[in-house]
Amino acid sequence: MTAPVAIVGGGLAGLTAARILRTAGVPFALFEAAATLGGLASSHRDADGFGDDVGAHFVTNRLAAAIGASAQCYRIPRYGESVWLRDRSVAYPFGLIGTPRYAASAALTIAARAVRRTPVRSAADWFSARYGNAIASEIALPLIEAWSGLPAGRLAPSVGEQMPGSIARSLALKAAGSLLDRAIASGYCGSLPESPHVFHVYPYDGVATFCRRLAEGLEDAVRYETPVQQILTENDRVVGIRAGDREIEASAVINTAPIGILASLVRGTKALECYRRFRYRPMVFVNLRLRGRKLLPDVVVWTPLPGSPIFRLTEGPLAMPTLAPEGKTTITVDIGAQVGDAYWTMSDERLADVALEHIAPLVPDARKRFLGVRTVRTPIAYPVLDIDYEADRRALESGLPVDGLYTVGRNGEFRHILMEDVYWRTRRRMQAVIARYRDGQVHEGNVSRQPGNGDDDFSQVPPGGGLTAGSWECSHRRFGTG
Ligand SMILES: Cc1cc2nc3c(=O)[nH]c(=O)nc-3n(C[C@H](O)[C@H](O)[C@H](O)COP(=O)(O)OP(=O)(O)OC[C@H]3O[C@@H](n4cnc5c(N)ncnc54)[C@H](O)[C@@H]3O)c2cc1C
Repeated sequence: MTAPVAIVGGGLAGLTAARILRTAGVPFALFEAAATLGGLASSHRDADGFGDDVGAHFVTNRLAAAIGASAQCYRIPRYGESVWLRDRSVAYPFGLIGTPRYAASAALTIAARAVRRTPVRSAADWFSARYGNAIASEIALPLIEAWSGLPAGRLAPSVGEQMPGSIARSLALKAAGSLLDRAIASGYCGSLPESPHVFHVYPYDGVATFCRRLAEGLEDAVRYETPVQQILTENDRVVGIRAGDREIEASAVINTAPIGILASLVRGTKALECYRRFRYRPMVFVNLRLRGRKLLPDVVVWTPLPGSPIFRLTEGPLAMPTLAPEGKTTITVDIGAQVGDAYWTMSDERLADVALEHIAPLVPDARKRFLGVRTVRTPIAYPVLDIDYEADRRALESGLPVDGLYTVGRNGEFRHILMEDVYWRTRRRMQAVIARYRDGQVHEGNVSRQPGNGDDDFSQVPPGGGLTAGSWECSHRRFGTG
């Protein structure tokens, strides 16, 4: 008998992997370190009716349809981003391009590059080459430095690859969105094309709904509060894991834990040592509860201030009205931190004070509106794309050098990918796991072909984007919804 597959982690990636394996008839066990599933895709709702998600807020109808959660979602009325330029906000990206000084700087850069191409060695080079020195130095670089905690000259150019595609395309999508009255998703998924039919939705019960839906019927295979302690290899081949202080045979391991942690789990090979250097940016999220609504000019407002770790404000209820009681709102202030630094150790009251001070230029009477605060500290928020290990990161894209070991998901792949990409990329990678398992079965003379494999037509979205009205009750006992 071929041993089951072990899945490390029960966030969106681990649960997607589990669903695909179950459909294909491949036996597996999913080990989750926490008492709840969901990982970053967990949601919290407090007694006063305010809701927060740990990671994602902005998800698409295409992902909801793929997961079978369309009926639990509503179409969000608006989505937009602005940049705060000290005394005024401009819409991103078109307002920036329409600002004469920025437009002139961008035009100069394009002309200079046509004459002489300078090498692009860092994120600082990439942004200057793409948008001109003015936008780069005043906006893009302060933002990515706060986001990553490193000077832009030490970040890899691939940081820029996270940016949405062409401006013309964004403009066309925006126009289609106005016509169709949809918040069309732009820059949220690289695996499948953007289109006027792919727009933002939000689950009534928070983003945790998606993982809850994926986990339906898989409870028999989930081991809660059972961190994988070791991954055992022989001759650069996976043979098992250690979890719950027991050694368990495994034909393959699918990792979704951060790649640096994976490196420390693997025994019997040094092939993953290079990944120990990979670092993540910790973040402190300050969720200010305020009286009123429509306090920010847009759902997301970027606040580039050289040297400041505070870089983004989000008024979630502008897009997702169910996140706050009527007449109230939440503004989330993102603060880049290091574990143990001044922001990390600050009291909630003091963090609220710092956040209120930061939003004062945009919301002058914020202190009068203040109702309370909920803070979230996460040591692993964003992968830091340091030039020092960029070559190893690129090599990771073609897989791990250990037979039977796969790594998927945002932190497992060490890519700044959002939920749709996590989902589609994991699905695709599972085809190799299924083939490998079946190959093992064939070699043992036990061919098992189950229905459900190869249904890779991911582009099908039902008419109307798969949205119908309705609500959904949580039927699972253990889930990451507070
Ligand atoms: C601040 C922020 C904002 C975001 N906003 C958006 C957004 O608006 N839209 C969007 O689509 N996406 C967004 N994302 C990204 C999205 O949240 C993630 O891509 C997605 O949730 C990642 O899922 P995952 O399964 O890869 O990882 P995770 O959710 O981190 O899951 C990994 C799981 O592995 C478990 N684990 C770790 N080590 C072990 C071990 N040794 N043994 C067993 N279990 C282990 C963890 O407990 C966890 O449950 C955001 C992320 C962040 C941080």
